Amino acid sequence: MTETRYFTTEDKDLYKAAELIKEGGLVAFPTETVYGLGGNALDPAAARKIYEAKGRPSDNPLIVHISDIGQIEALAEEFPPMARALAEALWPGPMTLVLKKKAVVPDETTGGLATVAIRMPASKAALKLITKSGCPIAAPSANLSGHPSPTRWQHVKEDLNGRIDAVIMGEPCMGGIESTVIDMTEDLPQILRPGLITPERITEILGVPCSYDPAILGRPEEGLVPKAPGMKYKHYAPKAKMLLFEGSREQVVKTITQRAAEYRSRGWSVAELLYEDSTRAAECLFADLRRCDEEGTDIILAMALSEEESVGFSVMNRMLKSAGYHIEHV
Ligand code: AMP
Ligand code: MG
Repeated sequence: MTETRYFTTEDKDLYKAAELIKEGGLVAFPTETVYGLGGNALDPAAARKIYEAKGRPSDNPLIVHISDIGQIEALAEEFPPMARALAEALWPGPMTLVLKKKAVVPDETTGGLATVAIRMPASKAALKLITKSGCPIAAPSANLSGHPSPTRWQHVKEDLNGRIDAVIMGEPCMGGIESTVIDMTEDLPQILRPGLITPERITEILGVPCSYDPAILGRPEEGLVPKAPGMKYKHYAPKAKMLLFEGSREQVVKTITQRAAEYRSRGWSVAELLYEDSTRAAECLFADLRRCDEEGTDIILAMALSEEESVGFSVMNRMLKSAGYHIEHV
């Protein structure tokens, strides 16, 4: 057991947090997507501690967080012009670029891959923490492996209190789903994990097509291996059983209302998740799943989002995993 310290986002606290990172410790910090669990990205021992604290499989690489585009040169073998153009247009923001790594980035950080994933987060506290630490910070989502990602510092406390050195008590995350991961090591960009930065936006900036890794378009039973190792794991699972319903809004609302009444009449605790739009769904999904766990919900009945629209597709990527791919057409 480690005693976990809780810090504000004031400069004097961020200095203390940065000292902990410099000493090889682990600090959870806010970003605009979800809370991250940070350690020195260039220190193999710190990276190993991250996997241990989360119970994360060691083949699932960490994203390296920077506060200045100039830091890339030390981390990546190449910074192709298209990658630079995306970085200049969209950082700080919810986008991660996969580039060929330099030897200085340890295998522990990249799960043994020859590439490194890099992102500049938009939260002020995160940027200050990285700058004050004087090193790039490796940070996966600050949850226990398999749990929904944390979008509030209290979620980090639920999962990691006593397992890490400190938590920065920042704002709730507005984005709510993890960054878009884009492979920039080939001629054309390819999305390995969908997020709030859409392929349409990438094409608009670069003027070239942007595809999805075919493995994330299919269902797991099709057996394609995703290029982002983390995408193969079952994630985001609430304790409750979760069912998704797709169809016209009217029909879905009707079905969920009927089913909820049936389950309640059997004495089950039921939660209904119906989001206004995909942006709101992204912001609220993980917090709602955690609230269901806290309240001892037995079953979650959720309206599927349209996957035609890119942000809806990104949120559905998480919702389908939460629901173990149980989806009913009504
Ligand atoms: P997390 O930070 O927990 O949201 O997970 C980071 C995600 O980025 C996981 O899905 C990883 O598999 C993916 N990732 C990190 N580094 C790489 C890389 N070098 N190549 C491909 N995917 C990566
Ligand atoms: Mg994660």
